Amino acid sequence: MATTATKMEKIVALCRRRGFIFQSSEIYGGINGFWDYGPMGVELKRNIKDAWWHDCVRNPPVGPDGREVQMVGVDCSIIMNPKVWEASGHATGFADPMIDCKTEGCKGRFRADQIGDVPCPLKPSKHPGQFDKCQLTEARQFNLMFESHAGAIADEANKVWLRPETAQGIFANFKNVCDSTRVKIPFGIAQIGKAFRNEINPRNFTFRSREFEQMEIEFFCHDKDSMMWWEFWRDTRINWYQNLGLASDHLRPRNQTDKELAHYSKACTDIEYMFPFSDEPQELEGVAHRGCFDLNAHKEKSGKDLSYFDDETKERFLPTVIEPSAGADRATLAFICEAYTEDPSRPSPELMKFHPRLAPIKAAVFPLVNKDGMPEIGEAIFRELKKHYPVQYDPKASIGKRYARMDEAGTPFCLTIDGQSKEDGTVTVRDRDTGAQSRIDKTRCLEFLREKMGAS
Ligand code: ATP
Repeated sequence: MATTATKMEKIVALCRRRGFIFQSSEIYGGINGFWDYGPMGVELKRNIKDAWWHDCVRNPPVGPDGREVQMVGVDCSIIMNPKVWEASGHATGFADPMIDCKTEGCKGRFRADQIGDVPCPLKPSKHPGQFDKCQLTEARQFNLMFESHAGAIADEANKVWLRPETAQGIFANFKNVCDSTRVKIPFGIAQIGKAFRNEINPRNFTFRSREFEQMEIEFFCHDKDSMMWWEFWRDTRINWYQNLGLASDHLRPRNQTDKELAHYSKACTDIEYMFPFSDEPQELEGVAHRGCFDLNAHKEKSGKDLSYFDDETKERFLPTVIEPSAGADRATLAFICEAYTEDPSRPSPELMKFHPRLAPIKAAVFPLVNKDGMPEIGEAIFRELKKHYPVQYDPKASIGKRYARMDEAGTPFCLTIDGQSKEDGTVTVRDRDTGAQSRIDKTRCLEFLREKMGAS
């Protein structure tokens, strides 16, 4: 009997078919926990990172103190002095308790806290430990950082780690940024970059990968104002996801319980999303109040003075940090899942309803037929638009097929040149979500797209 593909299986299939996401090294059988973005995916993820950078760094909202929020960016190296990870606690503490199965033919390794969620490799209908052949060990610590060596000799002295988060590069540069710019507290430093974690059980498509990208902000403020800034960033980040199209009833901000909170943290909200692969909402981003834990740890380890001097109050202090820490790949997956729409009544039964700011292709230009002067008008519009936006020109195939292809890629607008275009200089605009068509003057196409893109 044919089984029906789950929504998640259909999304994964569409991502591959339309060039959003491929398995890494697929021609060699892939590699667990690593993914490649194809021509559509790279544009989508870039748009997400650009929207984040634009909305958080270049043009952040006004702060709760009524002033423009000050933000600057950095781009730090992936490999840092190992002392960074000793200071941050990752070298000793960044570990998940793991359980191994000693059974011949299994030799599985499972996160102790997830053992009830994963299938037994030998008997997938059961969980590890439930099958009579399972021989599970006690839980042991397993460090998630990838090791490498900097230099010709692979010895202990040259051992380095690939960063498991981008945040520490920001803390290590706190003083450099204060000394080289005119920022004054409160201000934030932002970074987008790769992070690596040797996740024991990578799964759920790109959700839990071993190589992924983070979009992190460390916001430095005075401790007395820190809860106000924590609330500001929590709300700003939730609004960001909503403004770019995540439905509010799919988003679940969840406050960490006192038991979950790190000992130095006063508050942390996990912004969670209802992915189709789970009945429980899953973390997209954490907005954490980190006290002055990180700066203090680096101050102690490096022996450098990382305090801040306030010229106005003449006060010297270690700033408190608010950290909105998001995953670019998890955000991309959430926007993909949210956009995925099934509508059997349409020429494309599957379509991607991306927000225009995130859509990989903003508009497609079609001559209705590839003759009668229509291609000339279409090519001129295409050449003009492509200076400003990623657009496509497609003169071939039936118009229905061309619409369907663009619906699957999530292109919000199709501009069609038809017989009337030659007479009155107008073109048809077809809206992806409603299929509704209207006419605009061909000279207004760029202006039309600009209006639809919103902030940019
Ligand atoms: P989780 O509990 O899901 O492992 P975490 O709490 O360890 O996540 P953080 O250390 O707070 O995650 O990292 C910040 C963000 O980085 C996460 O909210 C997530 O979006 C992203 N992230 C973390 N680990 C991964 C991963 N293995 N694959 C993809 N994204 C990740």
